[in-house]
Amino acid sequence: MTIDVSRLAEFDDHESVLTAHDPKTGLHAVVAIHNTNRGPAAGATRYWRYVSEKAAMRDALRLARGMTYKCALADVPFGGGKAVIMADPRHPKNAALLRSYVEVIDSFGGNFYTGQDVGMTHHDVKVMARTTKYVIGKSPESDDPPYWTALGILAAMRAAAHAVFGCSDLAGRTVAIKGVGNVGFALAKLLGREGARLIVADIDPKKIARARTHLPGIKIISSARIHKERADVYAPCALGGEFTNVTARAITAPVVCGGANNQLAHSSVGKILEARSILYVPDYLANAGGLINVVAELAPGGYDRRAVERKTLAIGDTAARIIDLARRTRRPTNEVADQLAEKIFRPRKKAR
Ligand code: NAD
Repeated sequence: MTIDVSRLAEFDDHESVLTAHDPKTGLHAVVAIHNTNRGPAAGATRYWRYVSEKAAMRDALRLARGMTYKCALADVPFGGGKAVIMADPRHPKNAALLRSYVEVIDSFGGNFYTGQDVGMTHHDVKVMARTTKYVIGKSPESDDPPYWTALGILAAMRAAAHAVFGCSDLAGRTVAIKGVGNVGFALAKLLGREGARLIVADIDPKKIARARTHLPGIKIISSARIHKERADVYAPCALGGEFTNVTARAITAPVVCGGANNQLAHSSVGKILEARSILYVPDYLANAGGLINVVAELAPGGYDRRAVERKTLAIGDTAARIIDLARRTRRPTNEVADQLAEKIFRPRKKAR
């Protein structure tokens, strides 16, 4: 049965949505391009099990839209896109399937650049890069996206701390991190160097063991309780949907700033946080450092580490602007961030 994409709740005037099937290799993928007003779409490829093509399409539509907003606020000349390959990440990847997927990427003729997301590895990206130039995150210089993601979160966290505590210094502040995988662990290391006190939770005992080994003095707590823990900052770095109408009322930290994508189960949860005087730094703003790092490979002069650092640290300035505007206009930060991004990527209407 053909899916009418325009009737899906996640559809937001996306420019194109392509479904690719290759029975020979087993490839079944969806690529969604949301908006390319500012440049070609950039968005990593997710390799994941989905219950149906409709579920995969909804995920691709939602993630592609988020990339448009992320690129706009990160000030990179790209638009939003995302691809999902419907497959089981627990099984070894088939090289023929990746080759077939590369043909799909190429069919966009440079209007879609992609890289590594959940279920894909750096090795997969390098394999694909042998036959297409539209893959990013492959060069040795840009080979540490979680570090850059964490650095951007740290910059945003400092801006939030300044707004709430009157001081951007995080030394002595208690930060509770949910999820110490790639990003959470990189963030914990940076915060540890700043002198912050750390409380962490993860459902994976190996990640907890690594954190214990490398981060002396951390406190470990159950992941079901961490959002209620007494802390100055709560940093969700696991999966999305962290804040529902219920959890948004249970959290106690006055600042929320972390790397997980789609932290608000729906945008109106931002109003609950705002009403409780909890300062939420919009996820797609705080976690844009990884994106800034990979798209830097495509800069006309080549990858420039200092430029990546400057742009990533500038996330803190953008966070400060959004926080200030939200306070002055008494609106939730997520609404202010969305509006600011829309002003950037939507063409201005001509005056009559
Ligand atoms: P990851 O898989 O390495 O880490 C996620 C961690 O969260 C894992 O250790 C996992 O065990 C843990 N986890 C999952 N559910 C949990 C729960 N209920 N309670 C506690 N821990 C839980 O992934 P990552 O690359 O670190 O990404 C983390 C988040 O940041 C994701 O939402 C991702 O989309 C987002 N993000 C990542 C990057 C990047 O550079 N990797 C960039 C932007 C956004």
